[in-house]
Amino acid sequence: MLRKWLCQADIKIIIEPVDPILIKSGYATIDGTDMVPVSTFKDGNKVYYFPGTSLKGALRSHLERIARTLQSGSVCIPYYDPNKKITIPVATERNSHGCGYRSSGDTSSAAYADSCAACRLFGSLKFGGRFSISDAYPLSGHEREPELRNGVGIDRFTGGTVQGVLFDLQVLVGGEFEAQVRLINFELWQLAVLNLLLLDMEDEIITIGSGRSRGLGRVRITVPSYCLTYVQTVNHLKGLYQLVTEEEQRAYRLHSWEPQNAIALPTPQARGLRQSYDLSANWSEILQPLLPAFEQFLQWHGGPQGEVSNAEAHNVQETNT
Ligand SMILES: [Zn+2]
Repeated sequence: MLRKWLCQADIKIIIEPVDPILIKSGYATIDGTDMVPVSTFKDGNKVYYFPGTSLKGALRSHLERIARTLQSGSVCIPYYDPNKKITIPVATERNSHGCGYRSSGDTSSAAYADSCAACRLFGSLKFGGRFSISDAYPLSGHEREPELRNGVGIDRFTGGTVQGVLFDLQVLVGGEFEAQVRLINFELWQLAVLNLLLLDMEDEIITIGSGRSRGLGRVRITVPSYCLTYVQTVNHLKGLYQLVTEEEQRAYRLHSWEPQNAIALPTPQARGLRQSYDLSANWSEILQPLLPAFEQFLQWHGGPQGEVSNAEAHNVQETNT
């Protein structure tokens, strides 16, 4: 996207599990546990961690839920491929085929212009997205050994237990894990979304990993560091729209939204060519006026765009048979 670097947000978060957490590794273990958390080796020791991909997935699906609540059909369902004959069950989402499967012309600007809010932020099969989050490793002194839990197999038909079916799972309880969140070349509504997600994580609303229905997965975060960086000095908050040429604004179909009153930023620190603005102390207050930007973007953008080949034909065919 854009082949330029214009602005960036870097946020450090500390994740504290409220409930036990299980992000399954998918590997069977020699000692017989059926579900074990992901682990790796760091400085010769085995550490259990939360993979960035799982955290990103949890945040994306939370954002998709918010977007559909604010504006029905505003984000795509990324795994709905119009070339596969799958009927989309919910009528209002019949046009929600993944942006990655839609045709929008050859340029990356056209793909970005047509993509829904979730794909613009988190990426699709066509481009990588602006948002990234690292793996979350335990802070020194907060490493955790997994604890064992038992589960009972449930018969999906009767709802009763299935005799002889027991399974074990290992969960992580407590601890503190650190991750880095980054948003590159952000539009102002994207920065607003990032703040919404951070606030919901602060308020224990987002769950990660498996087993939500059995009381696993709630986390709480704190935000020790929040920094905005621009390639030039700016005297108030700017997003991509305010930093690119008119031609680029049109090609990428950037949203022109600005807050009613310009948001002042603190004195920057120069780091080479970059100007860095530290908002760690009061980011949520300073950036609060951005929050309406997201709903306005959804209304303005109108949801996933671009050609969907044969999708309608498939849907009709499936309903007739
Ligand atoms: Zn999409």
